[in-house]
Amino acid sequence: MATLSRHEGEALLERFRRHLRDHRQPVTRQRELLAEIVLSSGEHLSAEAIIRRLEEKGEKVGTATVYRTLELLVQSGVARVHDFGEGYRRYEAMAGPDDHEHLVCVRCGRVEEFTNERLERMLPVIADEHHFQPQRHRVEIFGLCQSCQRLDLGGLT
Ligand SMILES: [Zn+2]
Ligand SMILES: [Zn+2]
Repeated sequence: MATLSRHEGEALLERFRRHLRDHRQPVTRQRELLAEIVLSSGEHLSAEAIIRRLEEKGEKVGTATVYRTLELLVQSGVARVHDFGEGYRRYEAMAGPDDHEHLVCVRCGRVEEFTNERLERMLPVIADEHHFQPQRHRVEIFGLCQSCQRLDLGGLT
């Protein structure tokens, strides 16, 4: 998602804290740090990448705690989880109601985002044609990003 403003990030973090309290889950420093990483990164992070960033901040957090906290982030509605078919999941901050879609590079794993009004308008029309009542959707396009395409050309430039 596009990087959140400081204010938006803080609002999501507060919502997460409230969710923890409402569910009688302790609001620990480690959970807050992890939430901050996901909510401020503007990227689609794997659990492994999140653990690395925690370590860079000098925090050693157990894998079970990391996964549990990620689950809580998704449950509380402040983060989205993606499975791009890479064998692991990725997490990103919830951007709000305006949806964005993803382009996933199958070689380097880079994820780009796009929004397209025409596409967003078409999807309910397609559902309607199938007498289907849509609730939500995700569109993922898999392929090669620009820099991987350039690598493919192998020094032709
Ligand atoms: Zn995204
Ligand atoms: Zn790539």
